[in-house]
Amino acid sequence: MLDVHIVGGGPAGCFAGIGALEAGFSALISEEHRKIGEPEACSGLISRSGLESLRPYVDYKKVALNTITSAKIICGKQEFVITPKNEVAVLVSRSGLDQLAAQSFVEQGGRLELGRKVTRSFKAKNIVGADGPASSVAQHFGFPKIPSFVACMQGNFRLDCENPSQTEIYLSGRDFPGFFGWKIPINEESAKIGIGVSLPHHPYGYYRRFLSSLGVKSKPRQQLSAVIPTAMRKRTAMRKGGYCVVLAGDAAGQVKATTGGGVFFGARCGFLAGKYCNQPEKYVEEWKSSYWLDLSLHSLFRSILNIGMGEPNPWLLSFSKALLFEDLISEIGRMDRISTMLSPPSIISSYSRIVARRIAGGQGE
Ligand SMILES: Cc1cc2nc3c(=O)[nH]c(=O)nc-3n(C[C@H](O)[C@H](O)[C@H](O)COP(=O)(O)OP(=O)(O)OC[C@H]3O[C@@H](n4cnc5c(N)ncnc54)[C@H](O)[C@@H]3O)c2cc1C
Repeated sequence: MLDVHIVGGGPAGCFAGIGALEAGFSALISEEHRKIGEPEACSGLISRSGLESLRPYVDYKKVALNTITSAKIICGKQEFVITPKNEVAVLVSRSGLDQLAAQSFVEQGGRLELGRKVTRSFKAKNIVGADGPASSVAQHFGFPKIPSFVACMQGNFRLDCENPSQTEIYLSGRDFPGFFGWKIPINEESAKIGIGVSLPHHPYGYYRRFLSSLGVKSKPRQQLSAVIPTAMRKRTAMRKGGYCVVLAGDAAGQVKATTGGGVFFGARCGFLAGKYCNQPEKYVEEWKSSYWLDLSLHSLFRSILNIGMGEPNPWLLSFSKALLFEDLISEIGRMDRISTMLSPPSIISSYSRIVARRIAGGQGE
C-alpha cells in the first residue's frame, strides 16, 4: 500500500519525495508533464549556500551555468552595486536541477509517474500538494487562497554582457509596479531578461517597454510567462475526509516576496512535507519554526519597496545611500535567511568596520 501521494514533480515535490522516503514511507510523485523540469518557468538564480544545503541529494555543480558575485541596483538615474562578502549566487539550469532531484528520489526507491495530471483520485491517504501556484490539491480540499501574485515574463537573449558575473535589478514602481525587472548574464554573450508586475497588472506592455529601454531588438531564444505567489497561504495543512493534506513550495506560497525566489524554501519545506506527511500539525510547526520568520521578513521588505507604488521610487535609494546600506548589505547580505543579518550586534559591528574603512579611505570608499 502506498503511504504518500505527492502531486507535482518540481523542487518541492521531488524533495517531499526524498523526505518521505527518508522517513520510511513509500512515495509516488505524479507530474502532469512528460518530462521533469519542462517547460522551464524560472531564472534559476539560487544562493550557493541554499544549493549547498541540498547537495547531499542534488549535485548542483552538474547543472551550474554561471556564478553571480554582485548585483547592480538601478532606479532611474541612480544605481548602486552590492558585492556580498559571504554570499554568491549560482545560475543553474532549472530543468537540470529538477531532473537531478527526481533522479535522486527514484534512486532511493520512489515511484515517479509522468504525464498524469491529478485533481482528485488520490492514491494514498497522505497527500502532498506540491503542484505550484495554481495548486489543484489546495482547490480540491478548500484551502484559503493565496492573496497576492506577480505575473512575469522572461526571455533568453543573445547580447553582450560587459560583466557576466553581475546581475542587474531594475526598480521602479512605474515601470514594474509591485516587483522589478532583471537581467541575469548566462555568459559573456547571452542573458535572461525578465520582469514581474503585481496582478492585476498585465506584464506584456511593461516587458516590451523594458526591452526597448535596454536596446534589445533581437528575438528571444526562449520566452516564458508565469506567475509567482508573493504571500504565504494562511493554511498549509489539514485533515479532511480521512486524508492528511500538506502543501509545500509555491502551492503554500513559500516564496521570497522580495525576489520571487522559491527554489530553496520550496525544496526545504517540501522535504519537511514528505517527512511529516501523516502529521499535518507537526509539518506546520516544523516549517514555520525553520522558515516562517525569513519568509515574513521578505514580505515586509517587499511592502517597504512597494511604498509609493505607481511612482518611481528613487528616494528609497537616496535614503539607502545615506545610511551606507550599499556597504552594509555587501558586508552582511544573505539571499535567503535574512533573519541572520538582523542581529543588532552584527549590524553594529559591521557598521563600525564600514565607518572605520571609510575613515581610513580603504575599500569602503
Ligand atoms: C519567471 C520566473 C523566474 C523565477 N526565478 C527564480 C529564481 O531565479 N530563483 C528561485 O529560487 N526561484 C525562481 N522562481 C520561482 C520558482 O520557479 C518557484 O518558486 C519554484 O519553481 C517552486 O517550486 P515548486 O516545486 O513549488 O513548484 P513548480 O516548480 O511550479 O512545480 C510544480 C509542478 O507541479 C506540476 N503540476 C501542477 N499541477 C499538477 C497536477 N494537477 N497534477 C500533476 N502535476 C501538476 C507542474 O507541472 C510542475 O512541474 C521564478 C519563477 C518565475 C515564474
